[in-house]
Amino acid sequence: MHAFNSEVESLANEILAYSLLRLKDDPPLDGPRTAEDLFQEVGNTITAKGLGGHEALEVFTNVLAKACISTDHPRNLAFIPSAPTEYSNLFDLVVGASSLYGGSWQEGAGAVFAENQALRWIADLAGLPQSAGGVFVQGGTIGNLSALVVARAAARTKYPNTSRWAIACSAEAHSSIASAAQIMDVELLKIEPGADRKMHGDALGAAIDQLHATTQTRVFAVVATGGTTNLGIIDDLATIAEATHARDIWFHVDGAYGLAALCAPSVRAKFNGVEQADSLIVDPHKWLFAPFDACALIYRNPDLAKEVHTQHASYLETLHDDTWSPADYAIHLTRRVRGLPFWFSLAAHGTDAYTEAMEETLTVARDAAELVRQHPNLDLIHEPELSIVAFTRKGWAPSDYQKWSDKLLADQIGFIPPSSDKGQSILRFAIVNPWTKITDISMILDTL
Ligand SMILES: *Cc1c(COP(=O)(O)O)cnc(C)c1O
Repeated sequence: MHAFNSEVESLANEILAYSLLRLKDDPPLDGPRTAEDLFQEVGNTITAKGLGGHEALEVFTNVLAKACISTDHPRNLAFIPSAPTEYSNLFDLVVGASSLYGGSWQEGAGAVFAENQALRWIADLAGLPQSAGGVFVQGGTIGNLSALVVARAAARTKYPNTSRWAIACSAEAHSSIASAAQIMDVELLKIEPGADRKMHGDALGAAIDQLHATTQTRVFAVVATGGTTNLGIIDDLATIAEATHARDIWFHVDGAYGLAALCAPSVRAKFNGVEQADSLIVDPHKWLFAPFDACALIYRNPDLAKEVHTQHASYLETLHDDTWSPADYAIHLTRRVRGLPFWFSLAAHGTDAYTEAMEETLTVARDAAELVRQHPNLDLIHEPELSIVAFTRKGWAPSDYQKWSDKLLADQIGFIPPSSDKGQSILRFAIVNPWTKITDISMILDTL
């Protein structure tokens, strides 16, 4: 619509200046507003003649951006927040400026090569063989679904007479597994975790055997969680791997949040057994300091995934050779090279910096748990396995939790929405940001 004239150039300077400011200064937390309220202020921004770049940018920076909670604020400990490195965010500008196509090797070879090296780092941390490989997809939800579709295809080949299929996972598994089961029209065999809140191989094996003995339904995949989202619990991966493979079933590890900590020596042993995975996922946009959105999906045997996910069409056949096209490994075709900001930061900083930053967040989580334990009004739910610290407030009804949380955001102190555990309201700190200091935690605890 415009050549790169002086008007575009001046907008470029404005956008870069805003981006730099946003990256340099601690962002305010900000918060949501209603659609009515926003409409009153900005009106309909889509007009026949256009607002012009300057005006549209002002609408965004002055109004819309402030109606978005800053996920990278050091006292945003909600859900799983985000903490991209400055390098990864800066390089995201390059990705945006370059119109890179990440679906095929032919079009994106250089970028895909770099993404694959970043995936290799994760595969090596997990102890997967050299043949392992995969792709960066949008998020853990798509990553889990893509892997499970491959798992079912593999099972169909081996057990062609099966008419009903099931996924086995812990009752504490992420909601995306239930979503995948629904999309795939398969059943979910939920395993009650043990007293330590982990799923174990013996309970899993017994439940699968019972299902197979009493129904026509066959389990085609076991999903173990490498760090549950609510409490950060890591299933007993080693015994699960054994029970799963002994029954000729696909072993998938959902580590969207937790597997990032594979690079942290202080907790690495908790993931023993992950090296047996047939597939795994981890979201660099959660705890590997990368911007939204990027999920690393890795298969032990990527050829199986390629058979299942490659799309065939007359205009696409030219791409189907023995090169590595990321489109072939998940449910997608066109794709942004969403792993590239992560790659750039990892390449520039080196992996030691990741280990260090990871250990810092783990240390803050341990110290935060200690402060919670010492707090007269609070009860720690569970010793943190990773970087999630969950607790209850003595004497509070569910509405008290919500009121406290709303006020904390309104006061712009922090963002900590309530969650629940075993039917009881809880609060949880998800600490993934190396800029979250123990003083930030104290500031929040002082309001409890
Ligand atoms: C966040 C999360 C997911 C879903 O990942 P998205 O990137 O939000 O789609 C799946 N599993 C676990 C364990 C998670 O923490």
